[in-house]
Amino acid sequence: MIKAMTERADELGVEILLETPVKSLIKEDGEIIDVVANDKEGDLEVYAGAVIISTGGFGDSPEFIKKHAPYEWGKDIFSYRIPGLTGDGIQMAWDAGAAYVILIMYSYMYTRFLKYLFFFINFFHKLY
Ligand SMILES: Cc1cc2nc3c(=O)[nH]c(=O)nc-3n(C[C@H](O)[C@H](O)[C@H](O)COP(=O)(O)OP(=O)(O)OC[C@H]3O[C@@H](n4cnc5c(N)ncnc54)[C@H](O)[C@@H]3O)c2cc1C
Repeated sequence: MIKAMTERADELGVEILLETPVKSLIKEDGEIIDVVANDKEGDLEVYAGAVIISTGGFGDSPEFIKKHAPYEWGKDIFSYRIPGLTGDGIQMAWDAGAAYVILIMYSYMYTRFLKYLFFFINFFHKLY
């Protein structure tokens, strides 16, 4: 899928900037018109007719999880941490005025599910 999308982007003349994380969104008259990113040379501003935030989740930031989920990583939740997914896109959206919500992590549900499952297995094991 990524190959097909990259080829189509090429055909359309899309410029893909790697290792250029977006740092903030610029809002004018209620619309996001610009993003500020950062590459090896420093800051750069990219004018955008439209902005789609697709920066993934926040599982690599115990601080973000604690503040907004709110679980304690390593205590309530033991999820895999994909490097770089620190919730920065979510934060940028909030900073630009998106509605705040408490975030739910399915790994938390999974951890809880396993905890209760082991409890019941242990319980019935002792019974018989
Ligand atoms: C081990 C594992 C196995 C999985 N298996 C499955 C499966 O079998 N089936 C399934 O449906 N799902 C699976 N998932 C979940 C799936 O990978 C994710 O749900 C999906 O990749 C999320 O896509 P996304 O585009 O929202 O974000 P991502 O794929 O996480 O992409 C976000 C991108 O944004 C970049 N980024 C972050 N911040 C910035 C920034 N400030 N500026 C610029 N770029 C930024 C990141 O580097 C990353 O490249 C799995 C996940 C893991 C970890």
